[in-house]
Amino acid sequence: MSDNQLYSLWGIRGYRVTGFEMIDANNALVSLEPRPSVVHCPSCRSRDVVRKGKKLRLFLATPIGWRRVYFEVTIPRVRCDRCGITRQIRVSFAEKQRRHTRQFERYALELARITTTQLAAAHLGVSWDTIRDIEVRHLGRRYGKPRLKHLKHLAIDEIYLGKRLGFLTLVLDLDSGAVVFVGPGKKAESLALFWRRLRASHARVRAVAADMAPAYAMAVHKHLPRAMLVNDRFHVIKLYNETLTELRRELYREATSLLSKQVLKGTRWLLLKRSDHLDPKRREPTRLQRALNLNESLATAYYLREDLNQFWEQPDKRAAARFLDDWIQDAQASGIRLLMKFAKTLASRHHSLLAWYDYPISTGPLEAVNNKIRLMNRQAFGYRDPQFFELKLFALHTTRYALVG
Ligand SMILES: [Zn+2]
Repeated sequence: MSDNQLYSLWGIRGYRVTGFEMIDANNALVSLEPRPSVVHCPSCRSRDVVRKGKKLRLFLATPIGWRRVYFEVTIPRVRCDRCGITRQIRVSFAEKQRRHTRQFERYALELARITTTQLAAAHLGVSWDTIRDIEVRHLGRRYGKPRLKHLKHLAIDEIYLGKRLGFLTLVLDLDSGAVVFVGPGKKAESLALFWRRLRASHARVRAVAADMAPAYAMAVHKHLPRAMLVNDRFHVIKLYNETLTELRRELYREATSLLSKQVLKGTRWLLLKRSDHLDPKRREPTRLQRALNLNESLATAYYLREDLNQFWEQPDKRAAARFLDDWIQDAQASGIRLLMKFAKTLASRHHSLLAWYDYPISTGPLEAVNNKIRLMNRQAFGYRDPQFFELKLFALHTTRYALVG
């Protein structure tokens, strides 16, 4: 193999190929030695050095297909009179103390972006820890301390990651798609550190999308008095669906005839589905219609949701305000206790609901992030390695893998 090939395949200059050998079907060994031009003092770079023996070192290089490639490099030790030290010369193609080339690191990082750490390690035939270390160094440099100064539009939401990790509260920069803060737990207390950092950054946040929990409303009001809180469609409809489910449960409990119990049974998911997503092949529209015909209050609640969705389709904020007032009146006139309670919640959120017409933002992008986190978390390193986990979250917007399986 020529030195030119060494350069075009692995980007290495200043070394000479002294041997090439297939160790077995899957492993190749390339022997290298430095040209005199790269032999200098590792400290002061003086060429005025005396060779004092040599050492063989092995580096993992980027593979050729599924064949692993190792560089066996003869590294001279040199004595520098100027510095008065005797040391190995520095290898230009690898970081200090590493057993793989810099190009291998870049390749591993690229793989870890399109797949998981685990699969990248398996593909490259190295340990999980090797890829993890490469990722931590790179991600730490780039994302270790997310900058907050430029933040304008945020989404805040919590995600449940199972018993051991519990809840995490995430803050997403809606303009870049990057996770900029991860706090343990949920609601207000998880964000204390974020507000402190945000204040120190002098960011001018304009709007924050969050769910309807009073904790967020109070926190935004307190820490970002000039920003608008936006309660987005996703969370409003989610809360409404919870109300609908509860109503169905009540009706089921109160139903006296076997027929109405049977009709109500199994309608829970049908009620939550969008009407244009009902599957005629499974007789879903018919089954739903039968339940609605038999239960007036269920029908009222169901059609009020269809109605409520129109709130986000109004031509402007004024029309939306009128629409919201009408909807609240209708719900209150229904006489259904659960709907009246929901209407009261909406009335208290008047301002942050209408804020959507000033800032049409939502926590929707966080849903995609949550899916990626669940996939990542399935590799179960969240609790083993919180530092790595947090860095991965900060870099999540640069990844390209999707939730599978
Ligand atoms: Zn020196």
